[in-house]
This record gives sequence, structure tokens and C-alpha cells, in this order.
Amino acid sequence: MPQKMATNPLQSLPLHEDGRFIAPGSADPADPSQAVSLNPATGQPLGAVRLDGPRELEATIERARDAFLRWRSVPAPQRGEVVRRIGNALREHKDALGALVCLEVGKIASEGLGEVQETIDIADYATGLSRMLGGRTMPSERADHRLFEQWQPLGPIGVITAFNFPNAVWGWNAMIAAVCGDTVVWKPSLLAPLTAMATNAIADKVAREMGHEGVFNLVIGTDDMVGRPMVADARLPLISATGSTAMGRQVGQVVAARLGRSLLELGGNNAVIVEPDADLDLAVPALLFAAVGTAGQRCTTTRRLIAHEAIVGPLLERLIDAYERAPIGDPMDPGTLVGPLIHDKAAQAFDAAVTKAIAQGGTVLTGGTRADVALGGCFVCPTIIRAPQGNTLPIASEETFAPILYVFSYRNLDDALALHNGTAHGLSSAIMTTNVRASERFLSPAGSDCGIANVNIGTSGAEIGGAFGGEKDSGGGREAGSDSWKAYMRRQTCTINYGASLRLAQGVRFG
Ligand code: NAD
Repeated sequence: MPQKMATNPLQSLPLHEDGRFIAPGSADPADPSQAVSLNPATGQPLGAVRLDGPRELEATIERARDAFLRWRSVPAPQRGEVVRRIGNALREHKDALGALVCLEVGKIASEGLGEVQETIDIADYATGLSRMLGGRTMPSERADHRLFEQWQPLGPIGVITAFNFPNAVWGWNAMIAAVCGDTVVWKPSLLAPLTAMATNAIADKVAREMGHEGVFNLVIGTDDMVGRPMVADARLPLISATGSTAMGRQVGQVVAARLGRSLLELGGNNAVIVEPDADLDLAVPALLFAAVGTAGQRCTTTRRLIAHEAIVGPLLERLIDAYERAPIGDPMDPGTLVGPLIHDKAAQAFDAAVTKAIAQGGTVLTGGTRADVALGGCFVCPTIIRAPQGNTLPIASEETFAPILYVFSYRNLDDALALHNGTAHGLSSAIMTTNVRASERFLSPAGSDCGIANVNIGTSGAEIGGAFGGEKDSGGGREAGSDSWKAYMRRQTCTINYGASLRLAQGVRFG
């Protein structure tokens, strides 16, 4: 059942409290002191925000640092109670926030609501986690000694987010960081500042009302005035940055130079292998969602299909049919499955990739053009391009943030795995098969080299319970569930001597 959106999220969300919001009528893209938020479906301004500069960044980091000195001593379960209430506040605002995500980044209704649900889920997870931040106890080699590890809060942390998950990526970081005793300085993408303002305001209000001002902080500015200085600032012991691999290379180097920690969640070039025994009733909808959902603008979007030569024909026939029936248009319309690309530059990158693929011998099986949607935004047709004989298609090793699926065929699973792992990225992966030998091989050390490896589902749409992240050019970070929380804390190894004599380890005698 298609989901309907709240009608006017800009009215009902807390966007007007800190004086930063500029109404759409006064939004001026030529004014360098503003970041104008455009609706990608229409190209029309939703509003604008007054940009912060170095002075505001300095004040924000100091506020987060001050707050950290208090927050770190609040018992973790009490920090969890703050996060639990933030989860409830997000539930109250879910429809409006989901609608704002759709308006600001062009997601369809169900995906906008799903994104906010993901933040609610991680708040629930973090609440439970606040009672489980345990360390290990090891046997000491010395009599009357206790040896154990404990985890301490790290400090104010910097969170940099990409445009395509303007709410949930903050949630993965901020909810876990908060129960760990860290405070947060968030620098969102300038393509989605309004979702960030509303999200941070909701969390900050809950924390302030419970006496914890300064735990959740927002700074909105350009990369030069705010992003780069923030990354270089040693008062932020951890920078968690989500975005392109190019961004990750810059951020990783700057943070490493000051011996800080970085958690990098970067681009992907994800593939699905389809074995000859695959259930096509599963494979076709899984591929459609993973390759076309969010108009191909997820880090986990399926960009390469590696199909066995015995099945590639019937699979493509059904997939092309599904592609051509996917409604493209206004993401606020409950029937739409494919919304707009984020901006004209993204559409130009789509055009350029299609042109290159054709020049490299690829064949466009469907799509390959702009879509005829007269709303004002940039819409493209979901596209399938078959690689030439020999599977040489260099453009397929790049991440183009648009719905293009490159198709390769293979004869044996070893070749498929070599193709699969033969790219610089290593984020998400999947195999479609009913053969346990094939699926186990895919999950073996000689199988997928990605951080996420799925069987009989697509590459996108991860749950928050597992650790999320990728290898190689995808950054190596891990966020969300499992033991990802350890990235947000410092480990401390403690030895207690409860005996009456001083014993040295390794049998050393001294004096
Ligand atoms: P982007 O790299 O252009 O920007 C991401 C963020 O980094 C923005 O907030 C931007 O302002 C900031 N930034 C860029 N350079 C910076 C610098 N030198 N110092 C400090 N901040 C800097 O990415 P985008 O276009 O917003 O998002 C799309 C990309 O993000 C894709 O590559 C996608 O795969 C990736 N992504 C990855 C994940 C993941 O979890 N792995 C999730 C979402 C998106």
C-alpha cells in the first residue's frame, strides 16, 4: 500500500527556533551567506539557512567540549534514557520528518519514512546498549591481581554527513555516540540542511529539557569555512565522515596527520551475482529495489549485475520489463517508485557515464536518457547497459550516483567472483542462488571482499543491528549495530593489586 506524506512539514517541524531559517521567498542562491535548499523534484527553493563560519564553528566546538565534561559523568543508562526519549520525539515527528527528507532529497514516501524509522530503530538499539557497554576481564598472571578492560567516553566527536541519508546517518552516529558519553558536532551536507536543522532541533530539545544542553550541536557551512577546519581540529578526537571516496581520502589524511581517529563510510560499486539456479521471482524484485530505489543514489545501490550465461537472457527480459514499468515522477506522489536525481550535475554525470559506456562497447538495453517529467527537476530513466563480449567496460568500475546497472555474464563462479572483487570499492554485495555450495563459497574467505555480503536479497537496505561499512575504497569504517560502539569510546586496561606485596609481571625481580 503506497504511503502518503505529511502535507506541510516546513510548518510543523522545529525549523524556526535558532533564527537560521530563511523563508523560500527570501532564499537567494547568489547570496554567499546562505545555503539554499532546493526541492530536487521541482528545482524550487524550500527555504535557506544562514551559513556558519569559523567563529560559529569555534563556539560550537567549545560548547560541545564543555558539555562533554558534564555528559561523560552522567551514568550510561541515564544517557540511554535521554536517547530513548529522543526516539519517542522522532516517532512523534516521523511523518513530517519523512516528508521533509522526500522534499529535500527526492526520496519516495516510503523511503523517506523508512529513513526516519532507521533513526528511531538505532535510538532503541542505543538505549539498550547503554546498559551493555561492558569490558572484558582477563585472568592475571599475578596472585591477588585483577586485570580488566573498561570503555570510557571519547570526547566531542565530529559527524559529517552525505546528502542522501540526511537523517539516518546522523542517527547511526549520534545515538550511539550519546550513550557512549560523547557529545556531537554535526556538519550536514549543504544539499540537505533543513532536514539536519529539524533533526538536531528535535534531539537538542529533548536533551535540554532533561538538563543536558550542548550534547547535540549543529554547524552548517561550506567545506572551506567549516568542513576542513572541523576535520583538522584536535579537540574532536573522532571524525566520522560519510560521503564520496574522494572526500574520505582528504579527511582520512588530515585526521591521521594529527593522530586523530576517523571512521570513514564512503562510496560503493556493489554487485549481485546471479547463479543459474537462482529463483528469479526473488532476483528480479531484489535487483529492481537495489538498483533503482532512491534513483540509484544509495552507497549500497547495485551498480553491477554478474549473471550466469545460462540465465542472463530470461533474467534480463524480466528485469527490463520491471524497469520499464517503474513509475518515474514526483516523489510525493504515492504511486512513484523513481524520484529525481539530486541536481543537474548528477544528471550530467549520468549522461556522461552512458556516453562513455556506449563508446566502450556497452549496449543500452533500456533507459539511457532523461525521463520526460515536466516538474522542473532532473529525472532520468533507470538504465541497464550490457558489457561487450570479454566483459571489458572501464566505466563500470566507477561509482556514478544514478540508476545505471552494468551487466556482465560468466561461465563459472570463480570468474564471477574475480569480476565481483575486481573493483576498488568493497561496500556491499549479494549472490542469488538456491545452491548451498555457491552461497557458502560467496561467504567464504575466497568469496566476496565486501563489508556486507548477502544471499537472496539485494545489496541495499541494511538493518541497524549489524555493523555497517565497507572495505578498500569504501573506507573500512563500521557504524550502527554489533560492536561498532567501540569506535566511539576509548579502551582502558586496568590492573588492580589487592594483595600486600608488589609483584612484577613476567617474573621480573627488581631490587
Ligand atoms: P560528498 O563527498 O560530496 O560530501 C559528503 C560530505 O562531506 C558533505 O557534508 C560535504 O560537505 C563533506 N565534505 C566534502 N569534502 C570535505 C572535506 N575536504 N572536509 C570536510 N568535509 C567535506 O558526498 P555526497 O555527494 O553528499 O554523497 C554521496 C556519496 O556518499 C556517494 O559516494 C555515496 O556512496 C557516499 N555515501 C556513503 C555512505 C556509507 O555509509 N558508506 C552512505 C551514504 C553516502
